[in-house]
Amino acid sequence: MKQIVIISGKGGTGKTTVVLGLVPLFDNSVIVDCDVDAPDVHIVLEPDIKNENLFPGGKNAIIDNQICTDCGLCEKKCHFNAISNIDGKLEVNKFLCEGCGLCYHLCPAGAIKMEKSIAGKWYESESKFGPFYHANLIPGEENSGKLITMLRHQARLRAEEEKRDFILIDGPPGTGCPVISSITGADYALIVTEPTVSGVSDLKRAHSLATHFKIKSACIVNKSTLNPKKTQEIQKFCEINNIALLSEIPYDIRYLEAIEKRMTPYEYGDEDIKETFKTIKEGILRGINDQ
Ligand code: SF4
Ligand code: SF4
Repeated sequence: MKQIVIISGKGGTGKTTVVLGLVPLFDNSVIVDCDVDAPDVHIVLEPDIKNENLFPGGKNAIIDNQICTDCGLCEKKCHFNAISNIDGKLEVNKFLCEGCGLCYHLCPAGAIKMEKSIAGKWYESESKFGPFYHANLIPGEENSGKLITMLRHQARLRAEEEKRDFILIDGPPGTGCPVISSITGADYALIVTEPTVSGVSDLKRAHSLATHFKIKSACIVNKSTLNPKKTQEIQKFCEINNIALLSEIPYDIRYLEAIEKRMTPYEYGDEDIKETFKTIKEGILRGINDQ
């Protein structure tokens, strides 16, 4: 079983469109949406959720105002300024509370307890293209890396159990911690870039990350016709750095129409679009099998 992750140096490159274009072609796969802060693959796949699970966050302090004597000690001692007096009541701002437990130990009245928070939910679903794992992190919650690792672990268990050939992963945008959680241990990284001012540098960063983790990678230029000069720069960069350029996808309104109709570009598109994704798939398989 091989794990293929689709990443981009930054958001808005059309990475998810590429994932959705490939999903129908990798027919014995498990699909994972690792963009847990802004998941969107489910909008098109319209999956049937089989299991909904809570993802625990850290601990937060809670003050019982019936017991609190308003001594102000917790407010004074909290290093994170998470406690304030609002209209005569001591309250904890859960976005600032780091869960250190200091106030809990200091409170002379025993008015503070530490409670586990819920950081989000993750789902095990069925889509018409195979099992689908996705999640939702509550805005402002941290630990997206942990949630991604857990999602990938669940997907892997499922893939092993059902002897699936591939795990297809839609990675989060950027090159930060969540992306690292998405690509660690993958067999192949497909980098989607676009011909903009930052296109080459975004590709550079994503490629360095894949190289650092010893993951084979290749590139796709999306909306390549929007700026032919920048597309040429990307071609040159790929050539110099020996990066396989699997496809240049021209700007085409049909991709947008497909998403609006809740269809994958492969299902919605004409023969030319189908050919584009077949070529990308062949390139990925060549890259994976290339020693
Ligand atoms: S330390 Fe305890 S009693 Fe004092 S203000 Fe805080 S919660 Fe209230
Ligand atoms: S648990 Fe720590 S961070 Fe949270 S309110 Fe108490 S002292 Fe502040």
